[in-house]
This record gives sequence, C-alpha cells and structure tokens, in this order.
Amino acid sequence: MPRKRSAIGVRTPAARRMAARAARGQSSRTLENPQQSQARLQSDRLRHRVQRASETPQQSQTRQEADRLRHFRQRASTWADMLNAAFHYNPALNYEQFTFLQIGHMDKQCLHCTAFKYNGERLGMYCSAGKVRIPDLPEPPEALRTLLDGSSPH
Ligand SMILES: [Zn+2]
Repeated sequence: MPRKRSAIGVRTPAARRMAARAARGQSSRTLENPQQSQARLQSDRLRHRVQRASETPQQSQTRQEADRLRHFRQRASTWADMLNAAFHYNPALNYEQFTFLQIGHMDKQCLHCTAFKYNGERLGMYCSAGKVRIPDLPEPPEALRTLLDGSSPH
C-alpha cells in the first residue's frame, strides 16, 4: 500500500526498532576483539542457515527480494558518493565492482550520420535523426593526418 504523503520520511515502528538495534549493534561491535567478532559472525552465519532451512519457498522469495532491494540501496548510496567521480578519479577504487557505472561499449552506430553511440543513448541523438547535417571535416595536414590514422612513425 502506498504511504500517505504526510508519512513520507516518518519511520515505521519496525524501522525504528531496526535502527535502534543497528545502533546498539554498532556500538557493541566497536568494543569487540577479533575473537569476539569472529564468534559473532560465526553465530550469525549459523543462525541465518537455520532460518533459511526452515523457510517456505514464499518466505525465501520474499527474503531474496528484500536482500536485492537492500543491496540496490547500498549501491545507490555509493552512487551518491560517486557523483562527479569522473572528475576526481581515485586509483584506489575498483570501479569494476560498481555495475551501475558500466555503460557498455560505444558500438551502436547511427543510421543517419554513422556516429558511434553507447547503448543507452537515444535514437536521433547528435544529428536529430538525420535532420541536422554537419559538413565533413577538411582533410588535416600531413603530420596530423598520419598521427590521427595511426600510421605515423612517431
Ligand atoms: Zn545521427
């Protein structure tokens, strides 16, 4: 059921409980030593395994959908952090792990002007579907031409 406009941004009781639990969890985790952390993770894994074994197919599907949504939100928050990231390239980041950054190859060709485009670019981009005709560039001078076509010895 869609939430009322006035309720947008208001936490449900379940969300408040989860936030309180998360806050408690985080503060106690910062006090953990590596053995305690390992034990907690092991206990979490075991608990999840037991919970999943007793799930009905419907519950399993619901949980998986919730997981997908949670992962999407985590990625989206990362995306917000990466706004204008192209202008601040960080070699320490593994950009391949951000699937939403992958836009494919520039291998789609416009039928009108033969410009190469990415898959997500709309039809008619660049030449407005053949309505705009831009004259060809003049042939560049010799030194530049061999550099551009890759036949330069330099
Ligand atoms: Zn075109």
